[in-house]
Amino acid sequence: MWALFRQYNRVFNYFVVSYYAYLTMRHYPYTVTERFLRYVQIDTQSNPQSQLHPTTDKQKNLSQLLAAELQAMGITDAVADEFGYVYATIPATTTKQVPVICFCSHIDTAPDCSGTNVTPIVHKHYNGAPIVLPHDPQQIITTEAYPYLLQHIGHDVITASGTTLLGADDKAGVAIIMDMAHYLITHPEVPHGTIKLLFTPDEEVGMGTAKLQMDLLGAQYAYTLDGGEAGTLEDETFSADGVVLTIHGVSAHPGYAKGKMVNALKIAGELLAALPNNEWCPEQTSGKQGFVHPVRVSGVAEEATIEWIVRDFDTAKLAEYESRLYQLTETIVSQHAGARFDWVVTEQYRNMKEILDQHPHLVAYASAAYEKCGLTVTKTPIRGGTDGSRLSFMGLPCPNLFTGMQAIHSKKEWVGVQDLEKAVEVLVTLVQIWEENS
Ligand SMILES: [Zn+2]
Repeated sequence: MWALFRQYNRVFNYFVVSYYAYLTMRHYPYTVTERFLRYVQIDTQSNPQSQLHPTTDKQKNLSQLLAAELQAMGITDAVADEFGYVYATIPATTTKQVPVICFCSHIDTAPDCSGTNVTPIVHKHYNGAPIVLPHDPQQIITTEAYPYLLQHIGHDVITASGTTLLGADDKAGVAIIMDMAHYLITHPEVPHGTIKLLFTPDEEVGMGTAKLQMDLLGAQYAYTLDGGEAGTLEDETFSADGVVLTIHGVSAHPGYAKGKMVNALKIAGELLAALPNNEWCPEQTSGKQGFVHPVRVSGVAEEATIEWIVRDFDTAKLAEYESRLYQLTETIVSQHAGARFDWVVTEQYRNMKEILDQHPHLVAYASAAYEKCGLTVTKTPIRGGTDGSRLSFMGLPCPNLFTGMQAIHSKKEWVGVQDLEKAVEVLVTLVQIWEENS
């Protein structure tokens, strides 16, 4: 009798859960665009000043929603943890031994621009005219400023309304991964290995991997969805160091300082003035060129601190740059008797290409997927770091794929609907390429 009841109970539960999922699915529309429009309306701005994880509690509103939506799709291990990370597994549909790959994007938006009350607008059949954003008509998106818009004439373009960013960085990535998950779950005939999904908080404030549980993730390779134009594939980032230079002067009462005082602020000023303005600085470099850049000066007459960032694609060049800067500092400080300085170099992140070159199939499969979907592959080095560079050096090799996002971190941020859809197609193709080659 008890067994019969249990049997009945299981069947009953099955129907309850299915009906709940059905209702949820009906309630939550499921094209990639509809997902995107829903996610951008949730404020998930991160905060560089916060020491908490996540840096802002509101990010969890989106992580909890994503976990619930994945659960409703039938992904039963989907979980949003206390730090705002979402982990989930799409089970394999093949008996082949396919490496476990992970798709990752970040849920937070940049602190540079408000993310409160984002009102997304879909401009259907975009005609090429300037797009005036209604809540601030000063904000105008033109094809002159954004030539990539020309490729979207006749397509649908999504913008914000003028007073906030859109948040395509990186909710485009989130929507693309969620839509891929839904497609794969509803198309079990598509052969693929085990796929892990990862959504991270705080990428924009450099803390995207701070509380990541690598063992819980259990993936061998990963792709971040955090790139721009359709067809771009990023496997190279800067290598980055930070330098903190502290100049010690000699303090004295200013009324009686003759022959005694050595002003650290003036030495700092001399050093800054001695930096070249036509090379070796962010203002005058592009492409594969590196630079040294003072980001912050603070201090009093007795002691001044200059914080620097040092960047190049070639990690070995960082030491060269640091030595050049050190020598310049030494020359200037030594001209002031009694002054001295401290010098601390910190490794920030490294060019992911050093790791990805050891696993060439990772980028090769992505390129093959792009081409199969009719895209021309463009490899652009990122003049910055991504979660992918950190993940790569944490043991999870991780190039970056396109999402279509444009004019990120600004009120003019926009994304093309067809790019979102193309990216989903690329991911579905990519997981099959992994299966074919296993
Ligand atoms: Zn991003």
